[in-house]
Amino acid sequence: MIPLSLPNLNGKEWEYVKECLDTGWISTAGSFVDRFETEFANYLGVDGAVSVVNGTSALHISLQLLGVKNNDLVIMPNVTFVASANAVSYLGADPILIDIDQSSWQMDLDLLESFLSTDCKLDKSDSLIHKETSRKISALMIVHVQGNICDMDRLLAICNDYNLPVLEDAAEALGSKYKGKYAGTLGNIGCFSFNGNKIMSTGGGGMIISHNSDCLKKAKHLTTTAKRDSLTYFHDEVGYNYRLVNVLAALGVAQLEQLDTFLASKRNIALFYKDNLNSVGDIGFQLALDSVESNEWLFTITTSSMQELLDYLNTNEVMSRPFWIPMNQLPMYSNKIYINFNDVSANVHKTALSIPCSTNILESDLEKVVHTIKSFYEG
Ligand SMILES: *Cc1c(COP(=O)(O)O)cnc(C)c1O
Repeated sequence: MIPLSLPNLNGKEWEYVKECLDTGWISTAGSFVDRFETEFANYLGVDGAVSVVNGTSALHISLQLLGVKNNDLVIMPNVTFVASANAVSYLGADPILIDIDQSSWQMDLDLLESFLSTDCKLDKSDSLIHKETSRKISALMIVHVQGNICDMDRLLAICNDYNLPVLEDAAEALGSKYKGKYAGTLGNIGCFSFNGNKIMSTGGGGMIISHNSDCLKKAKHLTTTAKRDSLTYFHDEVGYNYRLVNVLAALGVAQLEQLDTFLASKRNIALFYKDNLNSVGDIGFQLALDSVESNEWLFTITTSSMQELLDYLNTNEVMSRPFWIPMNQLPMYSNKIYINFNDVSANVHKTALSIPCSTNILESDLEKVVHTIKSFYEG
């Protein structure tokens, strides 16, 4: 079986993890945590970064820092990994789901704009209110789905007009750029994941970045049990034990050293597939704006025979997976506000499937994937 996307551990992972084990610094103290945060921030060109146990906890804390409270609403795209919506729920808030654009699979900004102008208003204190429910909309979470990015200049202008802070769920978009700027550095806060299937992995892990050093200080405080004093057990608010341990940060440092290689590899794989699958059957691709350089994290194609092709690939030793089920189709989010004209989310979900794209995939395996897909259409 050619796997979908595996972690690539060919750098200094062993060396750095061994250093943790040899010195006994495996847990919450040790130099790799600081080093990982500093080097990650330097890579993206931001003031600082706070490492956490996973991408979901990064989103949870970031929404709290942006002021999301119980019973608030948070605008987000209808197509994402479920963690984005769950983070909203953890705070007692509810998502407002916005349908996606047919070609980029990112939040549809026309829909967003019409929703804001007709269904919402700014109150006397400049808070955004959803008219029908009188509930406060306290933030917008943009998700850079599959490493692609929407027209961020337009999104940020809209959010500025409606006084909405912007959280970037860049879990899938590490290394992607919009107008030369990295995903995660464009909004108020950016979040990343280092789960096993992401472009770089620490087994499990996440990161919060921001240009606002105050915000980062608070993120560190909240994710380390809100301890005020390092000697006594004085905690000044309800905090979380969300910190990334040293042994995983060691993996992170080693992975980050290889990120440029991973990006080059993902982009080469995408080029290869686009060249070779371009005119096969009715295969289509996710499209990006000229201003976007995607990290090509998880190569995904569309076809009207999605289910048949998926089954065919999986029985012919080529691992393939469908795209995320839209949030409005999951039981816990099916009764939430879903803004759409003709449910593009459902259509994309019905046609999209991901194909093998590990950063260390062999050329011969890439050829086998293409060959197998062609044989599906040619019978
Ligand atoms: C992976 C992912 C997350 C969650 O990250 P974890 O590290 O698995 O908690 C959040 N949002 C998106 C869009 C993701 O793809």
